[in-house]
Amino acid sequence: MLLTENPATGEALAHFAAADAAAVDRAVAAAAAAQRHWLAMAPAARGRVLYRVAALLRQRVDDLARLEVFDTGKPIQEAPEADIGSAADCFEFFAGLTQVVHGEHMPLTDEAFAYTRREPFGVCAGIGAWNYPLQIASWKTAPALAAGNAMVFKPSELTPLTALKLAEIVEEAGAPAGLFNVVLGAGETGAALTRHPGIAKVSVTGSVPTGRRVMAAAAETLKHVTMELGGKSALVVFADADMDDSVSAAMLANFYTQGEICSNGTRVFVHESIAEEFLARLVERTENILVGDPLDAATQMGPLISAAHLEKVLGFVARAERAGARLLTGGRRLTGDGLGNGHFMRPAIFAACHDGMEIVREEIFGPVMSVLTFAEEEEAVRRANASQYGLAAGLMTRDLARAHRVAAALEAGTVWVNAYNLTPIAMPFGGVKQSGIGRENGLAALDFYTERKSVYVNLGKVEAPY
Ligand code: NDP
Repeated sequence: MLLTENPATGEALAHFAAADAAAVDRAVAAAAAAQRHWLAMAPAARGRVLYRVAALLRQRVDDLARLEVFDTGKPIQEAPEADIGSAADCFEFFAGLTQVVHGEHMPLTDEAFAYTRREPFGVCAGIGAWNYPLQIASWKTAPALAAGNAMVFKPSELTPLTALKLAEIVEEAGAPAGLFNVVLGAGETGAALTRHPGIAKVSVTGSVPTGRRVMAAAAETLKHVTMELGGKSALVVFADADMDDSVSAAMLANFYTQGEICSNGTRVFVHESIAEEFLARLVERTENILVGDPLDAATQMGPLISAAHLEKVLGFVARAERAGARLLTGGRRLTGDGLGNGHFMRPAIFAACHDGMEIVREEIFGPVMSVLTFAEEEEAVRRANASQYGLAAGLMTRDLARAHRVAAALEAGTVWVNAYNLTPIAMPFGGVKQSGIGRENGLAALDFYTERKSVYVNLGKVEAPY
């Protein structure tokens, strides 16, 4: 039996059994049957179902947000918009696209032409991380369904609850039973999905090591893969940038959802001429962050996901101090005021970092910011790009030419200019280098849930040399 806990209190929320290979078989068979019905529906009718999913998500936003807060520990300030709202936006966006998943026509000669059909894969698998459970499930499922596929989804064993609610909603909205199927379990259940011959495509959101394992397993049956993996993104603050906005961006890039965000800009490169003032304002505002009960509307940061994860993050902090980075604030566990059974810590800021340090190279996935200084634009870009990862990046400047020059030069799937961590559904999202393969969201996502079939049509005689 697996268990999901409330990270704020350590209380058990639910026990559940892991789906074994036989259960995965049944889920895939049910999804395959449902997919045939789904594809037989007119695209407009499929779109109406997806619109109803979005509407039901919005109707139930309060309950779903509370459930997400219980399971993840993120503050209730965030969940309605960043989690449930993003999920609803995603279903709405792809609902509008069911009728435009169409191919191209290629005129060839007077007597021949070709066209392409955009066809669904059939049954896709989604495997999710624990930081944005409903949002991740939706970012995979909405485009998959819009393109005519079925989806079997495995949420993280740490946060399985809202995916189950999404399954109820998709069926209630009018989708054939089993079109969106949830299987619960840990890595083995994910691996059973990845190996399954009835699944044509796997989309995983998780760490780079998991991505490698999934891709290697998918290679055995040559499945398509989308990989949304980890990062160690850079935020570059130029000397001409608005100071308060830059501090806000750095905090949003590091402390939203307790710092448990894949695209976080955890390497903050600040121009040396403004570093002192930047750090002073940053520390002051960070020390005012309210850490505590995530269900309290005033709380700005909740607990980390688990005791093991808290220990891992605090281990990074301890090693960074030993390596000579200067801890300006935070980085300690919080146990007072009834927080002792949860996994709370104060957000940490390190200065005097250098590029070779572990905290500057490795993904921490917690509220730990490293601040580095630079002198020249070219130097900032080179150092920002010196990473195995390439999920995202940000830059703060008032110089229009510099903004676009640097945005082009940064090796990242997404670059934010004078902003950070905003992910509107119309904008494709995904990584380069070891941060991932493929894109979610935007029109681009449909490319990752469809095959193109080419149809050559001859109107004349068949010419043969025989
Ligand atoms: P993990 O890589 O530990 O797990 C991700 C998912 O994969 C979980 O559901 C996990 O199951 C499952 N899994 C584990 N092993 C296998 C396997 N061999 N085959 C198939 N599935 C498997 O990531 P976390 O859940 O710890 O999430 C944090 C990571 O996710 C960070 O690296 C973060 O950067 C990344 N992430 C990336 C995002 C992006 O969009 N690029 C967004 C959010 C997070 P279980 O955990 O239940 O055992």
